[in-house]
Amino acid sequence: MHLVIIVDMARISFHSSHNKHMSAYRAIAKGAGRSVGKHMDDQVLLDRAFDGFTELPVKGAVDCDVHPAVPGTGALLKYMDDHWREQIVERGIDGLDAMSFPPGIGALGREDWRLPAGKPGSDPDRTIKDVLDGFDLSFAILNCLYHVQGAYDENMSIGLARAVNNWVKAEWLDRDPRFRASIVIPTESPELAVDEIDRLASDKRFVQIMMLAGGEIPMGRRFHWPIFRAAEKHGLPITVHAGTNYRHAPTSIGWPSFFVEEYVGHPHMFQMQLLSLITEGVFTKFPNLKFVFAESGFTWLPPSIWRANKTWKAMRVETPWVDRPPAEIVRSNFRFTLQPSDIALDGTGLAKTIEHIGSDDVILFSTDYPHAHFEGKRALPPGLSDSQIRKICIDNPLATYPRLKEASR
Ligand code: ZN
Repeated sequence: MHLVIIVDMARISFHSSHNKHMSAYRAIAKGAGRSVGKHMDDQVLLDRAFDGFTELPVKGAVDCDVHPAVPGTGALLKYMDDHWREQIVERGIDGLDAMSFPPGIGALGREDWRLPAGKPGSDPDRTIKDVLDGFDLSFAILNCLYHVQGAYDENMSIGLARAVNNWVKAEWLDRDPRFRASIVIPTESPELAVDEIDRLASDKRFVQIMMLAGGEIPMGRRFHWPIFRAAEKHGLPITVHAGTNYRHAPTSIGWPSFFVEEYVGHPHMFQMQLLSLITEGVFTKFPNLKFVFAESGFTWLPPSIWRANKTWKAMRVETPWVDRPPAEIVRSNFRFTLQPSDIALDGTGLAKTIEHIGSDDVILFSTDYPHAHFEGKRALPPGLSDSQIRKICIDNPLATYPRLKEASR
């Protein structure tokens, strides 16, 4: 039995440029009574999408979004307490992969990063080879997306979150000193989330706290403030990663039919959470708190913050505690991981976007391994100056994560 909704055949049939997978997908589609159009074989668009991408010209970059995959719930059994070990076995819960990150589709497991067996990202030694060594990194920050937030029973959610954090610690952090990790929490239970943050915060290899972009209520609401207070107390940023606990439809217009709708629509969720955090006064209460939006893209920022600034000016009587224009708060308190970077192919898009955001402090290097956003080692989109590359790869991550700076001294 799977606890949460698992991707259905229609969802995986939309994406793949790889012939090897296409034949498997065609077989699935045929079995499901569907046909797969030949345009899906088209490699041209995919190739063009990476035109101008370059390899990192620096050593010692920090990858701020890498995904270790839990092979299955069985792998967590030895990291959970007796009660949950018995429950998981008795109830036959063998997988918790959310439909927002179905491991079987091409986009979420790059062809050359796939494993002979098992989910992409489930072998720590391969991740060391592909990411830490492959990109000559100083650190990689692990964001585990195993969907513990999907459980409605908060006792189960914290039981699984603890197991995931223990698993990351034992199987990944202890394996290579360059790994760092985010603390996975049961977001809908702030009291239990704070307990988990307090339990792990003394291990300096945990450098931030992870929440999913879609929760039960808007992120800025006071309900979540105990989590923010704990983050501030321990000097931990909060990463908000693409994904949702599926308490609500993942788009503002209702439940989409296809994965492409959901994935392309992720930035809308991030836009609303950004506004929620600002307008509810989170940064008046916690002025030093940093939020890292991961796998959200960032090219949506200029029109979003312009509109927020404009409307805030007209409506500031409504939220007098927001004492600065929203765009200023974005520049001081928000960071965004590099991949996926949805930019123009001519190399001018990124420079213009950064100019419009008004700061090159806000972008943090990421590969989003093992997801497919670029080819080979060409992880940098075109249009960045040498100094911007240095900032994005090294200086900005070190400034965002004080615990990295301590470790690199
Ligand atoms: Zn990611």
